[in-house]
Amino acid sequence: MSEFTVTLPSGEIWTPQFISAIDREKCIGCARCARVCARDVLALAGVDEEGELIALDEDEDEEYEKKVMTIAKAHNCIGCAACARVCSKKCPSHAPARV
Ligand code: SF4
Ligand code: SF4
Repeated sequence: MSEFTVTLPSGEIWTPQFISAIDREKCIGCARCARVCARDVLALAGVDEEGELIALDEDEDEEYEKKVMTIAKAHNCIGCAACARVCSKKCPSHAPARV
């Protein structure tokens, strides 16, 4: 197995860095990462008293302790790593795909 790479029009070989995790403990739910993601990969979720993730429903008052970012559609990620560059808490982790 080797790392998945892309040959750019310039001839440069690029190794996409796909999102692999978001550190829930450090995340402050600011959503900066989701705003720069062009692929709709990321979504906020609530964290309840037990530390379990709960879906957020804009129509209701949810019982959550805080909001955190989650990887909702990992299969949409193109490995641009923009989400990591805008996160002041260094929460997102990335890794190349293996092929
Ligand atoms: S992962 Fe970082 S940028 Fe995204 S919501 Fe959490 S703290 Fe904000
Ligand atoms: S690496 Fe790029 S495509 Fe993937 S979640 Fe982050 S911003 Fe979105």
